[in-house]
Amino acid sequence: MTLSKASESTETNIVKDDAERELTDGFHLLIDALKLNEVNTIYGVPGIPITDLGRFAQGAGIRVISFRHEQNAGNAAAIAGFLTKKPGVCLTVSAPGFLNGLTALAHATTNCWPMILISGSSEREVVDLMQGDYEEMDQLAIAKPLCKAAYRVLHAEDIGIAVARAIRAAVSGRPGGVYLDLPAKLLGQIVFEDVGAKSLVKVIDPAPAQIPAPNAVDRALDVLKTAKKPLIILGKGAAYAQADEHVRNFVEKSGIPYLPMSMAKGLLPDTHPLSAGAARSLVLKEADVVVMVGARLNWLLSHGKGKQWGEPHTKKFVQIDIEPKEMDSNVEIAAPLVGDIGSCLSALLDGMGNDWATPPSDWTDTINAKKETNLARMAASLQNNNTPMDYHGALGALRTIIKERPDAILVNEGANTLDFARSIIDMYQPRKRLDVGTWGVMGIGMGSAIAAAIETGKPVLAVEGDSAFGFSGMEVETICRYNLPVCIVVFNNNGIYRGTDENPSGGSDVATTVFVKNSRYDKMMEAFGGVGVNVTNPDELKRAVNEAMDSGKPTLINAVIDPAAGKESGNIGSLNPQSVVAKKRAAKK
Ligand code: ADP
Ligand code: MG
Repeated sequence: MTLSKASESTETNIVKDDAERELTDGFHLLIDALKLNEVNTIYGVPGIPITDLGRFAQGAGIRVISFRHEQNAGNAAAIAGFLTKKPGVCLTVSAPGFLNGLTALAHATTNCWPMILISGSSEREVVDLMQGDYEEMDQLAIAKPLCKAAYRVLHAEDIGIAVARAIRAAVSGRPGGVYLDLPAKLLGQIVFEDVGAKSLVKVIDPAPAQIPAPNAVDRALDVLKTAKKPLIILGKGAAYAQADEHVRNFVEKSGIPYLPMSMAKGLLPDTHPLSAGAARSLVLKEADVVVMVGARLNWLLSHGKGKQWGEPHTKKFVQIDIEPKEMDSNVEIAAPLVGDIGSCLSALLDGMGNDWATPPSDWTDTINAKKETNLARMAASLQNNNTPMDYHGALGALRTIIKERPDAILVNEGANTLDFARSIIDMYQPRKRLDVGTWGVMGIGMGSAIAAAIETGKPVLAVEGDSAFGFSGMEVETICRYNLPVCIVVFNNNGIYRGTDENPSGGSDVATTVFVKNSRYDKMMEAFGGVGVNVTNPDELKRAVNEAMDSGKPTLINAVIDPAAGKESGNIGSLNPQSVVAKKRAAKK
């Protein structure tokens, strides 16, 4: 075929122009795509093949926070998603780094938080023929069942669309984790800069409002009107939604007592007159209509049935959730309200009109009486200044600190340390309590603390069981490296649950749940230039935390707790299987 004169000259022009056209590559397109969509922070661990990606991102003005282990970087990204309603981004190397990050991606998905795990991977040709590449793994296939969506990009021109899809999948509908697989070759692929620029996509309205159906709103109001003993349960979906005014107005206008799930604490202050937190058992048992707002009837609420719910009963559930499939997951939902929390609550508020009848006073009086009794019973124990400390004495001190510093963020994990802190430490502002979430997982501590400090700029108080702390403890170096205002209090009771167990065989190994006695976690912080303090009573603890929060210096306080104070598995010991055989054998001895 011969070229026409006209096309000949065009070809020549392209060749001539091409030599002058600017080039870009996969590295830079990815960074441009993230920046275009306002991803300002990346949490990760550098290594092959994404070391340069981190460097270039930092050079381009993205804040890149390097961790010591991918799981902690992933947990940071997950909690950043919860705090900001934008996907937290975690960047890892291939195979093992990817797998470490994947735990956090699954955790984010389980908790309905938006997160994107971006991992480098080795060459498709070698992986697919299973020829044994450096860190070979079919990462896409492995990620798929553990997240909301998983995508692989093979051409640099597709990076823009891939990032857009990842963002939309993470934040729209029920939020969750998304995996983005980037084979090493992709990053170096060269394209013309103008072609690359055109391929970028800015995601418009990534999480559109979801308005509930009008008849579903009417149905919910009809059910509510029949209630003599109504109850609202606020979950972390309500905290995530950032519809704080609507939540407050709905509670206050309806006059219905509410129970906050642990990460919904502070949506309204725990000291609010309608908080039923201190009468939890009573309201779950007695309520006749329960309005679930961004909370699931999973194990954390005994699946909405059984003794805790006062079965047999005739309770009716109203449930507000963005995920239609959540309805009837465990029990019948009399009035499902599918939509985002802001839209659903505002529709309910409109429908309630100006003459809404608040619940009968005998219901609220009963709750208030119970609250008073329970709070009075606890008050005395919170004042004790015992050495070594028990949980109540130590947490009594921390409770006062959060009361005086309500904008501080509380990170909390452990067994007894978690259970006691959740009920003892009152929260006053939304999204200030970050904990183990839906899985009850250990190891979220330092990742959450770091992301909380980075994303909010507020001081962070991390209250950690000594075992829980161990899962992410090396990140104290990260905290020092970025000089973050994080104060960690390690509740050191020499072990898991308790530090008093003995080896049943009488052998020289310590028991399976026991750690080195009298260890000094505070020295770990000193090793990296932070402040370490050892405290043995609540007064010392309070002083040390106040000093840390005033100075904003990375601080680790080793709080010596009575090794005999805790109980097995905290409040969820009943989930441990029991061995009848072991009991019989012990009785025979
Ligand atoms: P908790 O553990 O506090 O009870 P869960 O994580 O079990 O909370 O439940 C949170 C629920 O909130 C999930 O079912 C999720 O689909 C829902 N959710 C998340 N974001 C929104 C939103 N913006 N609007 C409505 N529901 C939401
Ligand atoms: Mg312990």
